[in-house]
This record gives sequence, structure tokens and C-alpha cells, in this order.
Amino acid sequence: MRLGIVGAGASGLFAAMEAAKAGLHVSVFEKNPKVGRKILATGNGRCNITNRTISASNYHSQKPSFTNATLSRFSSAKCVEYFREIGLEVVEGENGRLYPMNQQSSSVVDMLVHECKRLGVAFFVQSEVSHIEKVGHQFSLHVNNEKKLFDFCLIATGGLAMPTLGSSESGYKFATFFGHKLILTHPSLVQLVCDDKAIKELSGVKIEGSIEVFVDGKSRKCALGDILFTSYGISGSAVLEVSREVAHALTCKEKTFVMLDLIPHFSKDQLESLLQKRLQYAVDKSLTFWLEGLVNKKLAPFIVSLAGLKHILKASALEIKEIKKLALTLKSIKLHVEGTKGFGSAEVTAGGVDVSDIDPQTFESKIVKNLYFTGEVLDVDGDCGGYNLHFAWGSGYIAGNEIGKRKK
Ligand SMILES: Cc1cc2nc3c(=O)[nH]c(=O)nc-3n(C[C@H](O)[C@H](O)[C@H](O)COP(=O)(O)OP(=O)(O)OC[C@H]3O[C@@H](n4cnc5c(N)ncnc54)[C@H](O)[C@@H]3O)c2cc1C
Repeated sequence: MRLGIVGAGASGLFAAMEAAKAGLHVSVFEKNPKVGRKILATGNGRCNITNRTISASNYHSQKPSFTNATLSRFSSAKCVEYFREIGLEVVEGENGRLYPMNQQSSSVVDMLVHECKRLGVAFFVQSEVSHIEKVGHQFSLHVNNEKKLFDFCLIATGGLAMPTLGSSESGYKFATFFGHKLILTHPSLVQLVCDDKAIKELSGVKIEGSIEVFVDGKSRKCALGDILFTSYGISGSAVLEVSREVAHALTCKEKTFVMLDLIPHFSKDQLESLLQKRLQYAVDKSLTFWLEGLVNKKLAPFIVSLAGLKHILKASALEIKEIKKLALTLKSIKLHVEGTKGFGSAEVTAGGVDVSDIDPQTFESKIVKNLYFTGEVLDVDGDCGGYNLHFAWGSGYIAGNEIGKRKK
């Protein structure tokens, strides 16, 4: 029995290993000159493989229960064990994130490819699948002007994020050709664009703060972590974490803004008391210089101006109502978000092939027998922290394993 896999990314490679173990003849087609190109870029070159604290709440989909079966069959412990078995030691980093011990994503790709080849998987690089059709009970894959026949076909083409790494719409095209529905896509884990001159002047400033997303006036999501001001707007781990909500709201044309808290570890009252106390160190200091003792140098004049206190030159001249204004400004900077940096910069695609037509236990299409979809091409996206790769490996593992069971 022959399996044709479209896409040699995280998901395609896991599916290939599992199916080949069961004795299937597996061919993997990859449009890039090398396999696993996106894996190389993950985790800033360190590859955040999975997360020790994984749960269904880390995933987003129109059908939230879809990932339950994957997580119960392919836990993070199972994922780590799998990598150990193919020769890669895994260690824990911050917030339960798991990385290869040598911190090199290239070793992840090398180990996966080595194992695939050991199991007899055939790789075809620079081989973009342009069309897939059903010929009798088989699938005909059109690749580089040739047609190749397979008993099973698995589509692991990924989403739209970072097309420079190989992402394309082709998985969606194949899905709709076979009668599958698509859930509207938008970028996730992406930088936000703010068309505000004052923000652009803060370019390069990095803080540990919190960011809260409001959609139609209601708080939707809050994250604590790095916030980096850039020439186009804001980036950093906390921004990426809430970006899905913003991108979704913008796609649905809902009103959205974000609120930054520059001193998240102090309540407003605590901050007011701190500022009040700090007045004793205000002697001979300008307001901005005095504020520098608390916030980044570039931020100080920005805060003073935003609080409408530019007219106050000496910190010692501050009155209680102005202290309150300063505290409020430091804890609630409202930014209007014009957009995101788009798929070109995003790490992940939200939306994709509608999972209502996919069996969550096997990843087989409910519409076309022997056709499978795994990984990011599906309408499943995860939070930042190893969850996206985990779903890609896990869905590939399950599909490959299930196809293996069906080998005659
Ligand atoms: C910069 C960056 C950093 C990231 N860091 C992390 C991280 O640390 N941890 C984490 O969990 N997630 C991370 N992600 C997300 C994660 O990489 C993806 O969710 C995951 O790789 C998806 O796996 P996949 O196999 O579904 O798709 P992909 O890995 O995108 O693989 C799909 C493959 O299919 C190929 N292809 C597409 N169309 C065709 C076609 N028609 N014919 C042949 N080949 C085709 C593509 O070239 C590609 O190689 C990151 C993403 C990016 C962009």
C-alpha cells in the first residue's frame, strides 16, 4: 500500500515515520529544496517542541473539542519520549516549554529525517504538488509534470504564516476541491501595527508590562510579558500572546483597542503611594528626569505628555491630582491598532480546513475516504509556547498510525 504525503513539515514528517513503521511505502513531496524549513525557524532557532502543561484550553478552533483526542493519545510526555527514541534529548525551559537539549532546531530536523530515511521513507524535494485528483480508489498527485498514484493521501501543507518558509494556499485549494469547507483565516502570534507618531518615537524601548485587548468595549484577553515598541507599532511575547484576539476582531470588522500597563506589579493605589513617596527625591529634578527613576528614559517624556503634564517642569511642583494622573497614565495607555503585520510575519494561521468534516480520532476526511489532513492546514491554532508544533507532530503521529493500521 502506498501513502503520498504533501508537505515535509512537522506534521508530514511524523505521519511519514508512523506509516513507514507499519510497512507502508511512503513518499513525501516538498516544494522547498530542503525538508522541515519552518521547523528550523521555530523558537528563534531553538525549536520549542512542546509544553509540559499542555491542555485543550491552549487551542482555538470553531470546534474546541477537536483536539481532545489528540492530546489524550499524544501527550507532551509521549512527545518527549518519541523524540528521545529517535535520539534527541529534551529539556525544560521557561513556563513549561520544552526544547532540544542542544537548543538547535536543526538537530530536530536532522533526527526526524534520519529516522524517516531509516524506515524507508522516500523524499522528493523541489516537488510542489499542483493538483490532486481521485482516480478510481486511488489518488493521483500531480508533481513536476508527472502523475503519481497512491492508495492514501495526506495533506500536511501547513497554513499561510511566513510564506518565505514555504507556506501556501495549496492545502486549502485541495480541501475545497474535495468538498471541504474553510473557516476564515487570519494571522495569529503576530506583531501589531499602531499608526501613532508618538509610539514610533519609542521605537527600540522594551518593557515588562501587561497588555489587555478590548473588543467592542469588552475586555477579551490580557497577557503579561515583554512589550517592544517598534517603528510600526508593538511586538514582544505579551503582544504575540494577545494578537489572535486583535486579528480576529479586525477581520470581523469589530472595534478593538489595546491597553498597556507599564507597571503591572503595582495596583493604581500602590503606584500613587510610590509616586507620592518618591517626591522626596524630586529636589532639583525635572519631571521627566524624576520619572526616569521609574520607567525607561524614552518613555518618561511620552508619559508626561500623555498625562497632559508637559507644562509642569519641576517634579517637586506635582500636586496630588497630577500624581493620580501620572499613575493612571502609567497603568492605562490606550493604543488604537490599525492592523497586524500580516501572514508575512505571523507565526501561525488561525482558521483553515473546517474540522467538522475531519474525524478527530484518525484525521481522515469524513467526505473522501483515505484522504487525511493534519497540522496547521486545519482550523486549529495554539497559543505561543510549543503548542502549535505539538499539534502538528501529534496529528501527524495519529494519522500515520491509523493509516498504518489499515494496511492490508
Ligand atoms: C518563525 C516561526 C517560529 C515558530 N516557533 C514555534 C515554536 O517554537 N513552537 C511551536 O509550537 N510552534 C512554532 N511555530 C509554529 C509551527 O512552526 C507551525 O505551527 C508548524 O510548523 C506547523 O506544521 P505543519 O507541518 O502543519 O506545517 P509546516 O511546518 O508549515 O510544513 C508544511 C510544509 O508543506 C510544504 N508545502 C506546502 N504546500 C506544498 C505543496 N503544494 N507541495 C509540496 N509541499 C508543500 C511547505 O513548504 C512546508 O514545508 C513557529 C512558526 C514560525 C513561522
